Amino acid sequence: MIYFDNNATTAMDPQVRETYQEALVHFGNPSSVHGPGRQARKLLNESREKIAELLKVKDSTLTFTSGGTEALNAALLGSFLPEPGGGHLVVSAVEHHAVLAASQFLERMGVEVTRVPVDPQGRLQVDQVALAIKPHTKMVAVMWANNETGNIYPVQAIGALAQSRGVLYLCDGVQACGKCELSLSELPVDFFAASAHKFHGPKGVGLLYMRDGLSAEPHLWGGRQERGRRAGTEHLAGIVAMAEALRLAQSGQKEKVLALQKLRDRLEFGILAEFSGARVLGDRENRLPGTLNILLPGIQGETALVNLDRAGIAISIGAACESGSVDPSHVLLAMGLEENEAASGLRFSLSKDNTDAEVEVALKTLSEVLKPLTSSI
Ligand code: PLP
Repeated sequence: MIYFDNNATTAMDPQVRETYQEALVHFGNPSSVHGPGRQARKLLNESREKIAELLKVKDSTLTFTSGGTEALNAALLGSFLPEPGGGHLVVSAVEHHAVLAASQFLERMGVEVTRVPVDPQGRLQVDQVALAIKPHTKMVAVMWANNETGNIYPVQAIGALAQSRGVLYLCDGVQACGKCELSLSELPVDFFAASAHKFHGPKGVGLLYMRDGLSAEPHLWGGRQERGRRAGTEHLAGIVAMAEALRLAQSGQKEKVLALQKLRDRLEFGILAEFSGARVLGDRENRLPGTLNILLPGIQGETALVNLDRAGIAISIGAACESGSVDPSHVLLAMGLEENEAASGLRFSLSKDNTDAEVEVALKTLSEVLKPLTSSI
């Protein structure tokens, strides 16, 4: 199987898997005071320090969570729910559902939510965010990189704007962490979420960075783990493995980014040459290196996905398929695509595990499997 769905999840790196398995030996509860507990605590602290060093932040600013969704919910609910009278939240229209669904919930709780539109390439104008900020705005949430198009957003400029207007900035870094150079303490970011399974770490573990000195109400209540910010026994082996996955992802990152970009571009140019009228969706100038979202004329997303899966290629479409019906992608709709087009953007997301040979096979297979579908319309 050729796996081109790395924005959905990545395979665990063999070295990370080894680290994970080794860490499983330490079964103690990090909150226990006896020997096994202390050993677990030591490992937990070391992992936090390792991640803090990699992200260039203080270790006390990191809270471990079950993944990106929880980290984002923690920042949103923890900032807004204690606020009497609601407050105001600004989000981009292309945020992940973890942010959009949580903001819909907050809306039902009395929070005013403004969704900032994007242009046909999915780009966001900082001026539009500035216009959306009101005197009672509490937070702006704009992601670092979009999971569907790969578009990279102007984090520095949005953070600077938020800071100048006295507004918190929540940055969903789930697709960026491990793929982009991060130096969080140098950025005007108040909250940042990451998830290990997007950078060859295990599933079910992630983190929330909260700027030093900032506080948010806990979103989970119980024990005093994570400095009282997130109750529940930590997923120790997962956290240890996440630290190793991040270390590996960041080592030689520049070279890896260039190699990935080259691989993605080969795929992109190959498809554009084979399918006349094919259209790349998103900002071709400023995208994650391994992401390609493309519309092939006359080809329905679901049909392509199923046929390519049968032919041994795993891709995805931004649209959600539930019980036989396809929900068009909210990201592509926000970019102004028609409903049928928004259900047909094919997302190829590559990682360090993909090879030139796989891209060549994929191009041949795409031509064999999908070309007949275009000529039949
Ligand atoms: N944010 C973005 C941009 C994502 O791509 C994802 C996962 O697809 C999430 C948040 C949710 O992360 P997790 O799967 O760790 O809950």
